[in-house]
Amino acid sequence: MKKIKEIHNRINQLSKNFLGYPLAKDFDYRSFAPFLNLCVNNVGDPESSSTLGIDTKDIEQEVISFFTELLSTNIQECWGYVTNGGTEGNLYGLYLARESFNNAIVYYSESTHYSVKKNLHLLGLSSIVVKSQDNGELNYDDLKSLLALHRDKPAIFFLNIGTTMTEAVDDLDKIKEIIHIYAIKDYYIHCDAAFLGCIAPFVEPKPKFDFSEGIDSVSISGHKFIGGPIPCGIVLARRKHRNRIVNSVSYIDALDTTITGSRNGLTPLFLLDFIEKHGKEGLKKRARASQKLAAYTEKQLNKLGVNAWRNNDALTVVFDKPSKKLCKKYQLASQDNIAHIICVPGIEQWQIDNFINDYRIELDVVELEEASV
Ligand SMILES: *Cc1c(COP(=O)(O)O)cnc(C)c1O
Repeated sequence: MKKIKEIHNRINQLSKNFLGYPLAKDFDYRSFAPFLNLCVNNVGDPESSSTLGIDTKDIEQEVISFFTELLSTNIQECWGYVTNGGTEGNLYGLYLARESFNNAIVYYSESTHYSVKKNLHLLGLSSIVVKSQDNGELNYDDLKSLLALHRDKPAIFFLNIGTTMTEAVDDLDKIKEIIHIYAIKDYYIHCDAAFLGCIAPFVEPKPKFDFSEGIDSVSISGHKFIGGPIPCGIVLARRKHRNRIVNSVSYIDALDTTITGSRNGLTPLFLLDFIEKHGKEGLKKRARASQKLAAYTEKQLNKLGVNAWRNNDALTVVFDKPSKKLCKKYQLASQDNIAHIICVPGIEQWQIDNFINDYRIELDVVELEEASV
């Protein structure tokens, strides 16, 4: 195919200057090329060996074990698998939640990722959208008034540990307090930590979202803060929830506990490679470096007179939307009047400086135009 080179060049070029998406770019998995002419398939439950032996499930289990430890639990208490991304992990968490109760209602904020509404539709779950605060965090007063009306129904709380647009974190302590106030006995807590899952353990004060703090399941994207050429993610859940849905299938001689049948066997290899190279300490260092760059970006924007802000130590810098031209050049995601830069590993200070320069020129032109009117 003559086009391969062209496609590679285009993506390579565009990868260099995007600032608006939470995808780390400092990876190189070319040493895994020998796997590209093999069938690799982790079909079925990661813990059950299948008659199909061409899997990397032992590696997948090591990856899961690392993440259970990162989220203050262990593989006795929790179970998980490597997914195709954050969306699948959220779908899975909501699936386990649905299987836990009859007629539950899902509560999630209006700042929640767009894919969640579709997940709820697929699962046929009833849900209520809760208002958000200006910073993207859930509005607890609104949640209270909604819960007051539905105290008779089991409640599923879908919490954001880092919203897509502003990296806002819903406060688990406040949710627990509200659960207590309304004496809700049947409830389930799922955390969407797609972007922040590998960062939040190192933020101070640490957002509460792990298993020691009472959650039931969590979804993390693997291709965001860790980064990689193939989308992937991790879902973790309490074993008791997974055991509720266990189903043995004789065709593959494995347990059918995952959303898809055939599953990616390469992404666990990438994830374990990252874990072996960086470990928990390395993740912390990455988080610190990214926070520093985000603080720098926020400061430079404010110096320009642009209204820029961040949630607590976030990697996401939110600011007034610049021109379409600038958004396109730096591939900035925007919503209403705001845009954001997400300072992930692989973005260098000079790239921020280039953007700031372009923004300055744009503002100067506007000023000149206004002066000449
Ligand atoms: C990116 C993101 C998702 C979706 O994750 P994918 O890995 O793209 O499927 C879900 N929720 C939040 C908060 C996200 O940032």
